[in-house]
Amino acid sequence: MFVFKMSRKVNLSKIATKNLKNAAAIVESTESSLVAQSSTLSPYFSPIAGRTRNNRKNVENATVAGFKSKSNETNVTSSSSSSSSELVAKIKKNQSIEPKGATRKHIKVEYDENEKVVEVKNEVKEEPIFKTETDTSEESTSPVKQVKWEPNNWRQLLANIREMRKERNAPVDTMGCDKCYDEHSDEKTKRFHHLVALMLSSQTKDSVTYEAMSRLKRHGLTPEKMIATSTSELEQLLYPVGFYKTKAKNIQKTSQVLIDKFGSDIPNSLEGLVSLPGIGPKCAHICMRVAWNIVTGIGVDTHVHRIANRLKWVPKETKEPEQTRIALEKWLPYEDWTDVNELLVGFGQSICTPTNPRCSECLNASICPASSVKKTKKNV
Ligand code: SF4
Repeated sequence: MFVFKMSRKVNLSKIATKNLKNAAAIVESTESSLVAQSSTLSPYFSPIAGRTRNNRKNVENATVAGFKSKSNETNVTSSSSSSSSELVAKIKKNQSIEPKGATRKHIKVEYDENEKVVEVKNEVKEEPIFKTETDTSEESTSPVKQVKWEPNNWRQLLANIREMRKERNAPVDTMGCDKCYDEHSDEKTKRFHHLVALMLSSQTKDSVTYEAMSRLKRHGLTPEKMIATSTSELEQLLYPVGFYKTKAKNIQKTSQVLIDKFGSDIPNSLEGLVSLPGIGPKCAHICMRVAWNIVTGIGVDTHVHRIANRLKWVPKETKEPEQTRIALEKWLPYEDWTDVNELLVGFGQSICTPTNPRCSECLNASICPASSVKKTKKNV
């Protein structure tokens, strides 16, 4: 007999003006229809939070807020049918859960040592709102099906981009950060090469990064060699990489940290990587994938950020790549995280360019919200 901790996300955004009884009814009906689905757990996970495919069912349980949990604090967790009904009763009693505007109400549940619910509290948080749909399918035993927000036509848009990118002939395909390592070096050194290439790549064209990496490899590219090299010589090796002076200092600082703390290897965790000088979330996520073959998130650079906004792959316009990354990871299936960076970067280099995108050659011209072709036809 299996015992499952049940996971279900219930969105309150669309029922903001209804009373809590409705919310409780949703929780009740949803939970009563839950079946063993440990194999269909959300793809979202974070090594930082210790959530993996294997253990996240223990930490990412039912949330009334309707999006992935950050901590147990924002979750409503049901570990058995009896505690579920108890929880529903407690929620029904709580009449102050009335979301306003764009905020969401979270239910904070506290447990005793036996995992019994001892207290239910409300919390208000500013979060993006997912849409809610009624599930009228015959198979459904629940009157309400919660559907997370996703962009219009995204599958077709992505399929078209894959088609346009099948030749893999953009600069990123031959000179990207994962193409700059010395294939004859040992695994530890290869990982260091990936890291340095990523550090150089921000605000720099792939071809410039590639050339600088070639000079560094000829010079000797290990943490020890970087420490032994004077800063001014390193700057000369990096030039004309963008911000080469700052990057030279960061490479040397990072090399020292790697020697002191990581045995001259690079950290194999997101936390470890972002703790290094000059490494932000974008670099860290890409580094985890190319150096360790672990997909922890979507690497969002200026191309991915721009194209995601053009395609309306974010619920509302984002200003920063990091905002775009968070928005994308909320709806894009995990299996697409692996190559979406490389797909969009190459697409941004070759067709959907920063200025004067080649919309007339783009397979997405008829369905892209930013297509100049579509606008021209409309205006005719
Ligand atoms: S139609 Fe134009 S703006 Fe839209 S994805 Fe294609 S190139 Fe980019």
